[in-house]
Amino acid sequence: MCAKREFDQVLGFDVSTINSVQFSNHTGYKCFKGQVLNSDDLACLYDGLQENGISSFSHILTGYIGSQSFLEKVAEIVVDLKKKNPSLVYVCDPVMGDNGEMYVPAELLPVYIDKILPIADIVTPNQFEVEKLTGIKITSEEDAIEAMKILHSRGPKTVVISSSEFSSDGSITSLASTVANGKKEVYKVQFQKLNAVFVGTGDLFAACLLAWLEKDKDLKLALEKTIATLQSVIKRTFEKAKALAGEGNRPTPAQMELQLVQSKTDIEAPPNSYNAVVL
Ligand code: ATP
Ligand code: MG
Ligand code: MG
Repeated sequence: MCAKREFDQVLGFDVSTINSVQFSNHTGYKCFKGQVLNSDDLACLYDGLQENGISSFSHILTGYIGSQSFLEKVAEIVVDLKKKNPSLVYVCDPVMGDNGEMYVPAELLPVYIDKILPIADIVTPNQFEVEKLTGIKITSEEDAIEAMKILHSRGPKTVVISSSEFSSDGSITSLASTVANGKKEVYKVQFQKLNAVFVGTGDLFAACLLAWLEKDKDLKLALEKTIATLQSVIKRTFEKAKALAGEGNRPTPAQMELQLVQSKTDIEAPPNSYNAVVL
């Protein structure tokens, strides 16, 4: 959840962070320990914000959620906050899985479809998640555009597919579509796939997109800046990881932790290195 207030984080947003889990490390390590918050925990934190009169937000951003009741509570809270502030923007990253594999319980899918999509303003699924949410298998640009159309019909005015892989050259395509203000716009950016697995890139993608959309109010520019930021961060991360691992060794999850603070300059002012194509 975030609001513009006096005390800012990097891109000028004051953020109230609510964890859906508190883990020792991300789940890409060999094990992880900690707690999964439930819907009562979320309700309690929301009560605290309300009682202190600090529950007025310009944006809500949700990411990984591991339980059905927690996701249902999120939907209730978003509806409540939108009553108080009708211009609140809800950005939903419907984190469910990747590369053909669900990593949340299957019962979350109908909640995303029936309760979350209708109240979300912006969604940022990856290819696997778009396929789950729409039932369309994405094997081409046309499939992706059709799937984004279906997502629009279910609620969100802006749909951004963070990554999809259907090109024969092995590149990644990110697509963005908006039907806001009565006009339809679709953009795509294509870039090279790095031969490594990063964790946390989806979160960074959704956060940067929210920030640049709010600042520039221009989906094409927001997509370009988001991709530019992500590519800078992952390239820096991969170079550092390879140097730490040493010639011929595979970097460990710890060595592959995203170099976020080291990339602060690129996050604040993304290099002008990607041009989105208008479709
Ligand atoms: P996560 O598993 O962190 O939730 P995700 O599947 O939701 O990730 P992705 O779409 O895989 O998110 O990645 C988000 C962005 O990160 C992509 O748009 C791309 O810019 C960048 N990215 C991630 N992995 C790679 C890679 N191997 N090569 C190039 N870019 C990548
Ligand atoms: Mg991915
Ligand atoms: Mg994701």
